[in-house]
Amino acid sequence: MSDFPTEHVLLTPGPTPIHPRAMQALTRPMLGHMDPEVFALNSDIQADLRVMYGTEPETFTALLAGTGSLGMEAGFANLVEPGDEVLVCANGSFGRRMAEMAARYGAKVRLVTAPLGEAIRPRDVAAQLTDDVRMVAVVHGETSTGVLNPVPEIAELVRSSGALFTVDAVTTAGMEPFHMRDWGVDYAYTGAQKCLSAPPGLAPIAVSERAFARFGARRTPTPLWYGDLGGLHDYWVGQTYHHTVPVNLHFALQAALRAALEEGLENRQRRVRQMGRVITRTLEPLGFTPYVHRPEERLPTVLALRLPEGFDDAGIRGQLRQRDISVTGGLGPTAGVIWRLGLMGESARPEPYRRLMTALGDLLGDRDLADRYEHHLQEETRELVSV
Ligand SMILES: *Cc1c(COP(=O)(O)O)cnc(C)c1O
Repeated sequence: MSDFPTEHVLLTPGPTPIHPRAMQALTRPMLGHMDPEVFALNSDIQADLRVMYGTEPETFTALLAGTGSLGMEAGFANLVEPGDEVLVCANGSFGRRMAEMAARYGAKVRLVTAPLGEAIRPRDVAAQLTDDVRMVAVVHGETSTGVLNPVPEIAELVRSSGALFTVDAVTTAGMEPFHMRDWGVDYAYTGAQKCLSAPPGLAPIAVSERAFARFGARRTPTPLWYGDLGGLHDYWVGQTYHHTVPVNLHFALQAALRAALEEGLENRQRRVRQMGRVITRTLEPLGFTPYVHRPEERLPTVLALRLPEGFDDAGIRGQLRQRDISVTGGLGPTAGVIWRLGLMGESARPEPYRRLMTALGDLLGDRDLADRYEHHLQEETRELVSV
């Protein structure tokens, strides 16, 4: 270990710092992908994913060997056929990525958009949701702008139509309320390196029975052989070979997922909110303000803050990076306008943000910054779960 640099403070909206138990699990001796012990581990993962997503007891869950984008792509590849009408809610770069993928698999895409920094309006979805729509897709938490879309309200509209409902849960599942069964979600996915703080390279998915029936009724096989739901089912349920799964990443994800469930999903939701309030209050006197106007549209796991007038975004982030602290700015039209502070998984802890506040106070000549942070932290965390 001594060859590695000292600990890096990763405050980006993904990847997140690897959970210590996941780090330890990575060093387990290798086993074969067809080993009985690996199949037992896989079925623990499947059960824990059902809890994380809030599914029916029998819902198919699995890991895809790729990042969150593969989870996204597999949804369209398996559940969309050429010519299908697909309604995509796109109010940021990940929503637009969904639209592009759906189009590549032959969908006729209808877009529902919203102004930058605002959530999708359910009534705009309703206006385009005609009987011929085969799927509605939405990003729950738009990482590019820090906007939380009203998934439960959109779900209610979709439920009374014949369409499947696909939800990108990358910034929410495991950290924010997510209720696949109660809401009526048909396909959900995330990435291991976001809210679970496992290493990148796995995409946990959940597929409803309705979605499986749609898949089973395809006229032609999906062009995406590697992510074919039938092939995945063969491995995850039938225990027959499809492809070599990254066993060591399964070890790590299982450890991180179990740690999340042991902490408790509600405790995690509370931890994110507490940290968000502490950071916002600490930075407010410097002129940082919430980028998303309506409080109910703010995504707790990606804190988007508008920078103060005249703030040297690139310069300060560069200096922070020299001190081994990574902070992410805006994307496209919000570049130079906002910071996106990650509060997913292990980044939503007092210590990494203490490092940021100390460094920032130093760089900006704000002697009170670190003390303000401690003060707000103490106020918030009088009954804090863990530090
Ligand atoms: C990160 C992210 C993705 C893509 O995940 P990768 O792991 O980068 O492939 C998709 N959707 C959202 C909302 C994300 O934040």
